[in-house]
Amino acid sequence: MKSVLPKQAVSKIRENDYGDWDCLCGNHPNDYGFYPVNDRNEEVNPAPDEWTTNLYACFKCGRLIDQDSLEVVRQVPVLDLKMLV
Ligand SMILES: [Zn+2]
Repeated sequence: MKSVLPKQAVSKIRENDYGDWDCLCGNHPNDYGFYPVNDRNEEVNPAPDEWTTNLYACFKCGRLIDQDSLEVVRQVPVLDLKMLV
């Protein structure tokens, strides 16, 4: 039987045995890192009142990753990401 896959197949990042993330671009937590972001792609403190998206951004490639499922929900230009200073 032929099945038709949706065009936007879900991609996921990997988590290693130590719980460290491995982005599809090769980024690691001790490389560019991953930071919690809000829906304006701004880094926020991971507190419930500030961080409502449950998304981490890869600061190397701009992929936004759901912290629970590890699914890449979308990708934004890295230049659009704003880090806390
Ligand atoms: Zn990445």
